[in-house]
Amino acid sequence: MKCTGCNKDAQKCVRFPCPKCGKEILRCDRCRNLSIEYKCPKCGYVGP
Ligand SMILES: [Zn+2]
Ligand SMILES: [Zn+2]
Repeated sequence: MKCTGCNKDAQKCVRFPCPKCGKEILRCDRCRNLSIEYKCPKCGYVGP
């Protein structure tokens, strides 16, 4: 499992569906704390 934000192995992460296409997105604690944007690998949607 890799974080969508930083592309590193994410151990503690949250999963949620892309608001646009529904693809599962993984986000690690670090990216969440730093509010790093994520980009959906499927449709390119960028979110906070
Ligand atoms: Zn991350
Ligand atoms: Zn998407």
